[in-house]
Amino acid sequence: MNEPVFERLALIGIGLIGSSIALAARKSGATRHVAINSRTPKTLRRAEELGLGDSYHADPGDAVRDADCVILCVPVGASGEVAKAIAPHLKPGAIVSDVGSVKASVITQVAPHLPEGVHFVPAHPVAGTEYSGPDAGFAELFENRWCILTPPPGTNPEAIERLHDFWRRLGANVEIMTAEHHDLVLAITSHVPHLIAYNIVGTAADLETVTQSEVMKYSAGGFRDFTRIAASDPTMWRDVFLHNREAVLEMLGRFSEDLTALQRLIRYGEEDKLYELFTRTREIRRGIIAAGQETEVADFGRPHGKGKDHA
Ligand code: NAP
Repeated sequence: MNEPVFERLALIGIGLIGSSIALAARKSGATRHVAINSRTPKTLRRAEELGLGDSYHADPGDAVRDADCVILCVPVGASGEVAKAIAPHLKPGAIVSDVGSVKASVITQVAPHLPEGVHFVPAHPVAGTEYSGPDAGFAELFENRWCILTPPPGTNPEAIERLHDFWRRLGANVEIMTAEHHDLVLAITSHVPHLIAYNIVGTAADLETVTQSEVMKYSAGGFRDFTRIAASDPTMWRDVFLHNREAVLEMLGRFSEDLTALQRLIRYGEEDKLYELFTRTREIRRGIIAAGQETEVADFGRPHGKGKDHA
C-alpha cells in the first residue's frame, strides 16, 4: 500500500464534505490519523457514533495540534472565525486548506490569521449532493470529480504538491487556477444554476392559479429536477451568494439579457432560432456525459448513486 500523504489530518467541520473526506482519506490510506472537530456537541457525537475519525475534539485548537494538514469544512462565511481560533495551535510547516465553494473571500478571511511558516492552499472539490451533516458523507464522493486548488501567489510549491497528491488519493482530478478565475467559472457552472433553481421553486410555491398539489403531482415535467438543487443547504448557499456577489451579479446580468432575447424569440414565433438554440444546448449535455461528469442513465426518480452531484 502507498505511504500516507499526511500523518495526521484535522477536519474542522464534519458535514457532507468533511465526513466524505474522512471516509475517503481513511479508505485510501491517504492519512494515518483523522482528528475531527465540529462546532456543536451533537454533530461531534454523531461523527463519533459513525466512526468517521480516530479522535474527536470539542475544541478546534486541540484538533489541529500536531496536524500536518488542516482542512476547514465549514460554510464560507465561518472561515475567518475558524482560522482565528486554530491559528495559535498550528504546527510550524502545517498545511491549512479548505473546501469552500467561493475562493477569493476565503483567502481574504483566512490568510491574515495564519502564522509565518504555515502554508495556506485553498481548495474546492467540485462534488456534492443536496444532503448535509455527518450522515450524508460517502467515500466515493470525489471519485472522478474535479478538485480546484487556488494557491495565492508565492505559496510553497511542495505544500501545493502534497495537497494535490492528497486529493488524487481521494480519487479526484486536480486543477490549479487563481481564486478570481475560480469564482467566475463557478458563478456560471454552479452558483447561478442554484439561484435559478431557488427562484423557480419559489415562483411555483407562490403561484395562485396552480395549486400546490398540482405542482407536486406534475413535477416530473421538469420542475422536480430543480427542486433537488433547491433543497441544498440554506446556510451554505446564503454564504456562497454573499461571498461571490460580484461574479454572481455579472453572470446573472448576462443570463437576464439572454432570457430577454429568448422571450422575444417566443413572442415573435422565431421557430428556427429556438430550434437552433435548443440543438446547441443539447450538445452541451452530451459533452458533459462524454467528459465523464454524468451518466446517460435515466433515473426517473430512482437515484443511481447515494447522491447526485452539485457543488
Ligand atoms: P454541512 O453538511 O452543512 O456541514 C457544515 C459543517 O460546518 C458542520 O460540521 C457544522 O457544524 C459546521 N459549521 C456550520 N456553521 C459553522 C460556524 N458558524 N462555525 C463553525 N462551524 C460551523 O456543509 P457541507 O455541505 O459539508 O459544506 C461545507 C463546505 O463545503 C462549505 O464551505 C461549502 O461551500 C463547501 N462545499 C459544499 C458542497 C456541497 O455540495 N454541499 C460541495 C463542495 C464544497 P455543526 O453541525 O456542529 O453546527
